[in-house]
Amino acid sequence: MRHRVTSLPKLREWIRVTPDEERAIRESAGKYRWSITPYYASLMDPDDPSCPVRQQAVPAPGELTEFPHAEVDPVGDMFYRRTNRVVHKYPDRVIMLVTEACPVYCRHCTRKFHTTDVDGTYFRDDEGISYDEDLRYIAEHPEIRDVLLTGGDPLSYRDGKLEEIISSLRAIPSVEIIRIGSRFPVLLPQRVTTEFCEMLSRYHPVWLNTHFNHPKEITPDAAAAVDRLLRHGVPVGNQTVLLKGINDSVATMRRLMTELLRIRVRPYYIYHCDNVVGVSHFMTSVEKGWEIMAGLQGHITGFGVPQYVLTTKLGKIPMARPSYSATEAGLELHNYRGQTMVLDEAYPLTEEDVR
Ligand SMILES: *Cc1c(COP(=O)(O)O)cnc(C)c1O
Ligand code: SF4
Repeated sequence: MRHRVTSLPKLREWIRVTPDEERAIRESAGKYRWSITPYYASLMDPDDPSCPVRQQAVPAPGELTEFPHAEVDPVGDMFYRRTNRVVHKYPDRVIMLVTEACPVYCRHCTRKFHTTDVDGTYFRDDEGISYDEDLRYIAEHPEIRDVLLTGGDPLSYRDGKLEEIISSLRAIPSVEIIRIGSRFPVLLPQRVTTEFCEMLSRYHPVWLNTHFNHPKEITPDAAAAVDRLLRHGVPVGNQTVLLKGINDSVATMRRLMTELLRIRVRPYYIYHCDNVVGVSHFMTSVEKGWEIMAGLQGHITGFGVPQYVLTTKLGKIPMARPSYSATEAGLELHNYRGQTMVLDEAYPLTEEDVR
């Protein structure tokens, strides 16, 4: 973390910086943070500015362009915030924003305002203030059975601090599962130490979701970090963001999902890219998402196919197109090859038709 790349001269030790990248770095100074771990920098192609790793980590001019309808918080995190850190949007689960810090400030971050914007924060009070109010809220709402630690990246904290938070949550009887959202397995897998995994294993059930966006990120180091988590009983899932120019092709997504299965990571979500200020240039069409889902479903292992969702103020909305439609003749089905068939009386549609 101490050796992160945060200046142009340092970046030039890793890649041939293009005029566009240089301009974006200069113009976003004082507006958006950037920082790249040496490990993640080592995955960047020094000569190719379209490198998927590089595009996620190095500022680009698109971040400073104004896009129609872009919002700082289109998903409404702030609207659902109940305490300094707790966002309660769904009936039985909450997210807890524990920090603003990340090892790499992903250019496409949905919480770009909170993590990357120099002046932005979702915290009402200082990040360092006591967790008492947050923990009390969770304890006083016994319907909350699932707490997801997110941020920023919770693993930015040292183990001792994380253990304080996790053990306090575990002491609340109504909290059944604890989840962690962390991109460290992708950005700095060495952080996922055996000691850290042992700590987690004392508070089971603990689940972890990470954020691989491209097969290039699946390295032996990343696989080893995942393996350590799994060996300590922490199931690992993955949330991918559909990003223009990075992973918006069927071939890339197929390879990503099947490579994830090889390292025993379960694909969970593909997020449609949110129209967030500073992020909109990564958006694809919804049709592109459909095309990708059609290229996964049926073509690869069933549990290698994540759910395609769009996060809105109403929650996450499943976006995949149904593989059937109701017609006069009955249910019309179509499969992944484009073959169709009609189900008639064999499978009644309504309860009334069931005898
Ligand atoms: C995504 C999200 C969750 C977790 O949702 P799952 O679909 O259960 O993974 C919880 N709270 C908020 C505010 C979220 O954005
Ligand atoms: S690690 Fe996650 S929270 Fe941090 S900048 Fe990247 S996407 Fe955002």
